[in-house]
Amino acid sequence: MKAYRIRDIARRAVAEFGGDIPCEQDVLLSFKGVGPKCANLVLGIVGEQPYIGVDIHVHRVTNRWGYVAARTAEKTMAALQEKLPRRYWVEINALLVPFGKHVCTGVRPKCSTCPVLDMCRQVGVTSHR
Ligand code: SF4
Repeated sequence: MKAYRIRDIARRAVAEFGGDIPCEQDVLLSFKGVGPKCANLVLGIVGEQPYIGVDIHVHRVTNRWGYVAARTAEKTMAALQEKLPRRYWVEINALLVPFGKHVCTGVRPKCSTCPVLDMCRQVGVTSHR
């Protein structure tokens, strides 16, 4: 499915934008398979102003910390935009994706060896390693 969507995006990029996709959120969101997280990641990296890319890892970790309290990734993104200093908006994704994959995992996070245990409220964590 990803390969199909990448090919579709490449075709549209050539046909509609001369191979140079505008750095605009509305345009990015018009591509199939590109949601707010992906669009914000692109805009944060190549755009002129920072955006927060909230995927499942950023959503899970920041809510477990108790830094935000939001039920969906979109609501977490809105909450982080209110609270997180702008200088961290781009790098938070690059930091928390590997952290969420390897330490603060979806099932049984590794709290006993977590470097931020003393700062974490462990919201919703019922079982951990
Ligand atoms: S202490 Fe546990 S819940 Fe909190 S960030 Fe670390 S691994 Fe995640």
